[in-house]
Amino acid sequence: MTSPPASRLRSLPSVDRMLKTSVTPAAVQRFGRQAVTDAIRQVLDNVRQACRSGATVPEPEDLAADAVARLEAAERSSLRPVFNLTGTVLHTNLGRALLPAEAIEAARAAMREAVALEFDIETGKRGERDDHLRTLICELTGAEDATVVNNNAAAVLLVLNTLALGREAIVSRGELIEIGGSFRMPDIMGRAGAKLVEVGTTNRTHPKDYASAIRPETGLLLKVHTSNYRVQGFTAEVSARELSSIAKTRGVPLVHDLGSGTLIDLAGYGLRNEPTVREAVADGADLVTFSGDKLLGGPQAGFIVGRRDLLAEISRNPMKRALRVDKLRLAALEATLKLYRNPERLGQRLPTLRLLARPASEIAAQAARLFPGLANVLGEAFTVEIVECSSQIGSGALPLETIPSAAIALTARSGSGQQLEALAAALRALPVPVIGRIEKRALILDLRCLEDEASFIANLAGLSFGGFDAMA
Ligand SMILES: *Cc1c(COP(=O)(O)O)cnc(C)c1O
Repeated sequence: MTSPPASRLRSLPSVDRMLKTSVTPAAVQRFGRQAVTDAIRQVLDNVRQACRSGATVPEPEDLAADAVARLEAAERSSLRPVFNLTGTVLHTNLGRALLPAEAIEAARAAMREAVALEFDIETGKRGERDDHLRTLICELTGAEDATVVNNNAAAVLLVLNTLALGREAIVSRGELIEIGGSFRMPDIMGRAGAKLVEVGTTNRTHPKDYASAIRPETGLLLKVHTSNYRVQGFTAEVSARELSSIAKTRGVPLVHDLGSGTLIDLAGYGLRNEPTVREAVADGADLVTFSGDKLLGGPQAGFIVGRRDLLAEISRNPMKRALRVDKLRLAALEATLKLYRNPERLGQRLPTLRLLARPASEIAAQAARLFPGLANVLGEAFTVEIVECSSQIGSGALPLETIPSAAIALTARSGSGQQLEALAAALRALPVPVIGRIEKRALILDLRCLEDEASFIANLAGLSFGGFDAMA
């Protein structure tokens, strides 16, 4: 016989009673009285609801434990570290490049101390934020001058707004890109106050298309790296070098948005060659823009490099202040860029390159080491196999290029897609969530980005799936 809701509700403890449970003093110490009281009220509210639909009232100690669990969950950062086993090295949704140790140390120091951010130590006068990186960037790219803003989207916005506000910007129809997360070239143009003038067709654009579109209203010619797609087949594109000669003849600046941009020849790391920033500068672009956290392997940032007079104009644009980077990122960028001075060590020091260049054989050997542990934990319900797979660079860099890699593939013995989804969810529920990818009814854990094997194994001990507990 169950008691009616009204009498059950009478046994609900008061907030005062709840503040006297054994766990409350420690909770109050840690989270503060107000937060604990609020959490208790929420728990009591939930129980009150549940009682109306027939549930009984738990003991105060259990209710208090529930409140503490809520507080702990709310305190855990949602920006949690994860194991990126997606096979995409520069995964935009997982934060793109992992920073080199040198950059982390530099950012940490800049966080802890006052730094000479805009202060000239020699003269004691005001200094310039851009001074910290200018020399280094110019040295690595061959450009005359340089500045850094929030990201490459900001770099493009700032350049357009400075050189083409109320004027026209000419772009090939084959290069009107959309990058994931609503970066659409035509929209950016509009917001920058530039009028988009499309020339050519989707597959073919010729020098005369640009030349005949140039008018007194033209602010700039824009060449955009087609980062995340390729136009193939019957195509014609005007090279940056050709465009630069048109631009120079007509006295209009050429801006080249390189997207990822790389500072080095990637062929040396077993990747297909991408045009480097130095090449883009040498090909005659007046300004080149590129990202800090794509192939460059640093923190989020956008670079604008090129002609000194144009950079001076950009510096005078009040929008620049709204798009600037803080001391942490400047410190991290400087440390990252300095690694490029020593190409022999770069492949080891820069995580992005180190991960991209890991040979498939080394990853397969790692898969073999991890296999017994995973088979042991999941072997009952899942087939566990070592498979060859393809990693991607990600973030629109070298979109068609895949890198041979190795993975652990998990397939439900029952063939059930639901069971596979449940396993993926269980892996995401680990203390350090493990993120793989589902492909053809298998959960693929591409090991290219797994460096800390010991932590990975220790983390798996927390796996609890379908009544199965890895610790048991
Ligand atoms: C990625 C990309 C951008 C945007 O760069 P963010 O650094 O992500 O802001 C702009 N243009 C091109 C061509 C890109 O590939």
